[in-house]
Amino acid sequence: MTVEELRNRHVELLRDRRVVDRLDPRAHPADTAARYHTWTQVAAEPVPGRLARLVDVRVRPAAYRPGHLHDQQRTLDALQPEVLHLARAAGRPVDTPVFAGVFPTGTLDALSVPVPGRGILVLVNTSLLDLLGAVLKIMTVALPNYGTPPLLTSEQASYALAEAVNAHLYGNGAVEARRLPELSGQRLALVALMARRATQFVLAHEVGHVLAGHLVHARRITDPDTPVGALDAQSVGWPREHDADRLAATIMLHTLDDLGPRELDAHEPCLVGALLLVLFLHEVTDRLTDELGLTVPFAGNHPPPVRRIQTLVEHLTERVRTPRALDLAADVASWLEDQLTGVREWFRRVDEVLI
Ligand SMILES: [Zn+2]
Repeated sequence: MTVEELRNRHVELLRDRRVVDRLDPRAHPADTAARYHTWTQVAAEPVPGRLARLVDVRVRPAAYRPGHLHDQQRTLDALQPEVLHLARAAGRPVDTPVFAGVFPTGTLDALSVPVPGRGILVLVNTSLLDLLGAVLKIMTVALPNYGTPPLLTSEQASYALAEAVNAHLYGNGAVEARRLPELSGQRLALVALMARRATQFVLAHEVGHVLAGHLVHARRITDPDTPVGALDAQSVGWPREHDADRLAATIMLHTLDDLGPRELDAHEPCLVGALLLVLFLHEVTDRLTDELGLTVPFAGNHPPPVRRIQTLVEHLTERVRTPRALDLAADVASWLEDQLTGVREWFRRVDEVLI
């Protein structure tokens, strides 16, 4: 019952902030969002058309689409109970009711909002799920490691990534980058698994705060600059943020305990890659935000992503059981770093158009 009350509180908050009135399934499930149907179509339009689409996101505020938010909420509804189950399986049952709701917070972290007498409402940024999914898709089709031949050239990948990051940075959590084609086979399996694990990590981090009792000592802070105006969140201090990362990683690594050596070889690098992916994206988008002169809501709430990455890598290094456990994460980090030059170039062209 209490989780239902938290769900109602979530819808109330969406309504108050004029994001959406309700999160019911669409009456007409027709998918009207623009999309690429084949990989050859990605970034194939002439440059002016591609630039115009990036510019459009910056200059025209988009409306929140109930269907988009509903789909994301469905993902969270599936993952939140899984995370609570993982915590229980790791010997850390959560007594407090927790509900994860999609919300345009503007940050790549979830925000915990205690609801007195009810439990904890965890707000997950709408664009976090979009960005994660897009980046994973682009990476698996652009790198030969995950299937040959690659389905995107490096140039196509840069534009697709620029679209995804542009939507995250400028779209107020309402804009979804043009959807990419569906994947199949091994790539589909890898992207689905890593997106699921990465989102679970975001939720497990918040569950970590609940388990460690951090929210009892939290300070309420208000940020006036979220996509929907002033929003409250709990600030627990940097050392406790590192604790929540470590606790979340411990809970998630426990899922590998029953695997045999061969399965462990396959699954451990994916899990480690997924945990670190969220922080890598955080790091990359923070850097771009800084370069573009934007502000990230609740920026000081968490330690800088570089510090979180270092601390988490140290924690993981002591706990992983296979020699190549950190390899996939390293590949992801260097691929993102390489792509950044191309993304910056698109943003520079957009600036030129807007001057
Ligand atoms: Zn936190």
